[in-house]
Amino acid sequence: MHPILVSIALGLTAAAANVFGGAIIVQKNWDRRFLNYFVALGAGFMLATALVEMVPESLTLRGRNAGFLILLGYLIIHFFEHTVTPHFHFGEETHHDEFAHTHKGYSVLVGLIIHTFFDGIAIASGFIVSDWLGWIIFTAVFLHKIPEGFTVSSVMLAGGSSRRTAWGASVILGAATVAGVMTMALFRHEIAFGLPLSAGVTIYVAASDLVPEVNKEPGVRMALLVFVGVVFLFVLDTFFH
Ligand SMILES: [Zn+2]
Ligand SMILES: [Zn+2]
Repeated sequence: MHPILVSIALGLTAAAANVFGGAIIVQKNWDRRFLNYFVALGAGFMLATALVEMVPESLTLRGRNAGFLILLGYLIIHFFEHTVTPHFHFGEETHHDEFAHTHKGYSVLVGLIIHTFFDGIAIASGFIVSDWLGWIIFTAVFLHKIPEGFTVSSVMLAGGSSRRTAWGASVILGAATVAGVMTMALFRHEIAFGLPLSAGVTIYVAASDLVPEVNKEPGVRMALLVFVGVVFLFVLDTFFH
């Protein structure tokens, strides 16, 4: 199949995971403990994918200059998720005092729209380079998509939005992911720009969004799962690359 078609199909799959994550919190009774496992596994797998696969490939495509774009990708997410947004973290939003004004929930939504747009850029960039890179970036993105949808819907509920609007926010994140895939498909000649930028975004999501959530968990179990995520990449590399 054509790499662009594959990345669109997988972009839609990732989007569906966002929507599923949103449904978990909107349907109150669903068990959500398994989300923490996805966060920890995803943190390790994403970090390894970004540093061992995306960064070296970016340097090959763009030379030393890639470093600036990787840094820029990292800082873009720091700006939209944590600078213009007063309060944001992955996981369930339990700090209701922070969301006395509904607009704060929308600022988190905007930050996550930018982030998920780059999730889509990352998937399509991967497939433009090779099937292997595309599949592992998709896996890295997929692992944090359910917690991501859960997070945005949880924030919207904390901000006083209706269940319908809260779930709608996870649908918007899914749509932004697909929009990222489409954008990279249209500008596929800009791969030397798209891959390093999305590598910086991936490093941010892994190390600055997900790892802090892992570190909040008591005990060693979650911390160890990060290593399992890293090993998972090397196992895939051994058998499928
Ligand atoms: Zn909070
Ligand atoms: Zn994401």
